[in-house]
Amino acid sequence: MENLQQFIQRSPSSYQAAETIVNQLKVKGFKLLDEREAWTLKPGKSYYIIRNMSSVIAFRLGLDKLSDSGFMITGAHTDSPSLKLKSEGGNWKEGSARLSTEVYGAPILSSWLDRELSIAGVVTVRKDGIWSRILFNHKKPVAIVPNLAIHINREVNKAFEYNKQDHLQAVLGISKSKEDPLRTLVSRQLDIESGDLGEMDLFLYDPGAGSFLGDEYFVSPRIDNLAMCHSILSAITSSMVSAATQVAVFYDNEEVGSLTYQGANSSFLSEILERIVYSNKENTREDYFRAKAASFLISADGAHAVHPNFSDKHDPDYSPKLNKGPVIKLNAAFKYATSSETALVFQGLCEDLSIPFQKFIGRSDMPSGSTIGAISAANLGIRTVDVGNPMWAMHSIRETYGMRDHKLMNDVLTHYYNKGISRNE
Ligand code: ZN
Repeated sequence: MENLQQFIQRSPSSYQAAETIVNQLKVKGFKLLDEREAWTLKPGKSYYIIRNMSSVIAFRLGLDKLSDSGFMITGAHTDSPSLKLKSEGGNWKEGSARLSTEVYGAPILSSWLDRELSIAGVVTVRKDGIWSRILFNHKKPVAIVPNLAIHINREVNKAFEYNKQDHLQAVLGISKSKEDPLRTLVSRQLDIESGDLGEMDLFLYDPGAGSFLGDEYFVSPRIDNLAMCHSILSAITSSMVSAATQVAVFYDNEEVGSLTYQGANSSFLSEILERIVYSNKENTREDYFRAKAASFLISADGAHAVHPNFSDKHDPDYSPKLNKGPVIKLNAAFKYATSSETALVFQGLCEDLSIPFQKFIGRSDMPSGSTIGAISAANLGIRTVDVGNPMWAMHSIRETYGMRDHKLMNDVLTHYYNKGISRNE
């Protein structure tokens, strides 16, 4: 679990998450491929590709013909709900420096107030006349979105609605100057002129480390979905070369609907799978379709554990609990991609290892959440199951997770990569 704690600490935004993933892949011998180059791939060797510095695909080429054994794929997302900074939105009000924000995804907004926040993401900088993008992480707490005192906001404990334009500007801890406070902060840290700083993709985040509550719970920012990124990374880097080609995809932008150049609703994974098939010049288009038909995708994202104070918010027959094992997620409208067939495949993997598993279907009178599974299944034409480990307070700035569930998910995913699925599954 300390490993997960460090992984999350090093990954304050999707950009640093991708860097953390890539650093681990490099240590384990995965080689970088450039989408602009021609590729020569060798069976049994491991590779990775990056898009937008924030999405990563890693794979290990299998020993068998792709048309026979296909791709064993797992997927998760690198981004988390947050407050994104507007590059030009720095302003001064009542003597305080403020940063204008946009809401990224759907955070539980109240959990972001009165919290020491730092800033991370990427920025564009000009050096010797050439613009490039570099990672930025302030690391130390530097901003806060203060609440209004209850004495002048008596409704705050009732149904108070924060106005997203006016109430969520973050106050920055720097002293008065005439310059834009955000550009001043970033250019000072990078030791460059503020004129050499261009557009910025920066997010507020909680720089506090995750903590352990006894030996039961892990409380941390960004468990959704860095916990599943960490599980998948552990599985693909510790599994053995197999007949099937093993693939791990870490997508950015799930929290805002995935429709980006690097998101789950992009060409990224389908193009990489196609290029892997055609890297063997003997393969035909029919081999490509056969490979996909033999393939399987486990989409792993957080699941809602039943909350003891709000147990009526769950269907009593589908109420996953913390520390009781991975969750298979189902939905009649296929907001989750799971079918009875794919549920059985994941269940079989758990049963092979005597690992307990749970199932989740939301209450019939509540709309379902969704994730990358359904989008990927539809775009790729690959059978998919949606799973994840249970947590409380999904999208809070601090989420609560069961410590035992993490190892169970790591073990199932590693087993999946080593074993694959049989053709009659
Ligand atoms: Zn998620």
